[in-house]
Amino acid sequence: MGLLEGRKGLVFGIANDRSIALHIARHLIEQGATCLFPCLPGEKSERRVRLALEEIGITEPWMMPCDVSKDEDLEAVFAATRERLDTIDFVIHSVAYANRMFLKPGRFVDTPRDVFAQALDISTYSLVAMVQRAKELMPKGGSIIALTYYGSEKAIPGYNVMGVAKAALEASCRYLASELGAHGIRVNTISAGPLRTLSAMAVGGIDEIFDLVAVKAPLRRNIDVGEVGKAAAFLLSDLSSGITGENIHVDAGFSMMGL
Ligand code: NAD
Repeated sequence: MGLLEGRKGLVFGIANDRSIALHIARHLIEQGATCLFPCLPGEKSERRVRLALEEIGITEPWMMPCDVSKDEDLEAVFAATRERLDTIDFVIHSVAYANRMFLKPGRFVDTPRDVFAQALDISTYSLVAMVQRAKELMPKGGSIIALTYYGSEKAIPGYNVMGVAKAALEASCRYLASELGAHGIRVNTISAGPLRTLSAMAVGGIDEIFDLVAVKAPLRRNIDVGEVGKAAAFLLSDLSSGITGENIHVDAGFSMMGL
């Protein structure tokens, strides 16, 4: 019997076979969970998601287009989810976007207002917008996870506006956790070490970051995406029933080192 037998919920953020969300879904399903997959609208994008899901053995996925910056898309996804599942137990927020022109070392200072606002809307506010709707489907409580990165805590050249968005995401998680705890809903973030995904490749200087982690992290290596999947399964399960408002680092220990 898996840790998540009978649990059901939404996994936002699969783009392709490298996406962290795909590997989280794989682990949740292995533990007995049922997952629905909202994804970025567009024929090409939906085809890639379908192929990625096939690779982990899901041949008939429930998918629905959803641009998380659009309230009407989120409204439609949560209405369809209610129809299909009635209630849910979890939501995975594995979504982020910033204009890559401004994800270059030395360019944070040049971030235009619209680029800043878009990054925070898609990468941060979307969590709040999801939770507003998810709580209505969680009468018996639930667990919500968002993905973040160490560039929220320390300045990492190249991470730039995304670091600001992640700092706001982690703070949002704490406020959401404080308000929803009374309803049995837990909200946590996983701060993953660098992984070679589509989003990561947009960050200037990412190769140097992988090299540095391999040398400086206590475990002397970068993480494997499956390690994020396992942490997510833990945070959705009863094994973590006392944890909320927390930021769990899955980074081979890199972030706790002073030097
Ligand atoms: P990814 O590119 O596979 O995933 C990002 C997802 O965001 C994609 O599925 C994309 O379609 C989706 N997205 C972007 N804009 C959207 C919109 N408007 N509406 C709906 N979906 C939208 O890359 P990933 O690395 O798997 O990223 C997942 C999460 O993990 C992100 O929050 C990212 O910041 C975080 N993260 C990544 C790393 C890393 O090194 N890869 C490390 C720590 C945290």
